[in-house]
Amino acid sequence: MDALLPGSGISLATGSVCPGCQRPLLGFAMDACGCCGFHLEGRLHAFPEVILRMHEIARSWTPEAFLAWARHRPAQLLWTLRTGHWRNLGYWVAEDLWRLWARQFASLKGRMKPRLVDELALASISLYGIGEFAPWVKLRIRGARLDFQFDSGTRNILHGNAEPTPFHEIWTFMPTGQPIEKTDHQCGTCAGGLDFKDIDCPYCGCPVIPEPGPWLLVGIRPDLRDPDMYRSPFDASAFGFPDSN
Ligand SMILES: [Zn+2]
Ligand SMILES: [Zn+2]
Repeated sequence: MDALLPGSGISLATGSVCPGCQRPLLGFAMDACGCCGFHLEGRLHAFPEVILRMHEIARSWTPEAFLAWARHRPAQLLWTLRTGHWRNLGYWVAEDLWRLWARQFASLKGRMKPRLVDELALASISLYGIGEFAPWVKLRIRGARLDFQFDSGTRNILHGNAEPTPFHEIWTFMPTGQPIEKTDHQCGTCAGGLDFKDIDCPYCGCPVIPEPGPWLLVGIRPDLRDPDMYRSPFDASAFGFPDSN
């Protein structure tokens, strides 16, 4: 019967409604109602419009599958920082970004004022927003970690805190076009399955040169509503992606 309805330019579909003010949600670029500010943290992934949009920007992906895929990334980022195997991040971080971090941390160390970030305790990871016009998905990540800069001569702390401190970041990812069936991290030489921490392929022995997986991190910024938060050590965005900052 839909075909008989006159074209009106007004969507006749029933959209999702804000649980706070009962008005239609205006968009899904962030996890709060645009009318009343009601917080949708931890709920966004279940809205039908979000599931639909996810399918449009990354075929065969669901918000839940994306969250499951992303869950281990914060720990991997700190593993990389601890071990210096930055290249391994090529599987899920834009090259501009991991090269920038590698340079920044090396520069501090070179000036005898290294920044130490470690002992991650992840509190929550949830969908923050999804692009209605451009293909991006944002995560809200909360947790605590050690984060301080010290003088390697005197061992005095220059900034930060030697106790685990809360952090709250928004991470922006873009799809690369890889379908969900091809998300396994594989050796480029023999196609053997790889663990993120593999430096050499366990099957053929070749050094691992990670190929980009289904999603690339293009930016991290601290949540703007927490102005007192210590500046994130990873606060940066990939070149050519202004929206991530
Ligand atoms: Zn509302
Ligand atoms: Zn191999």
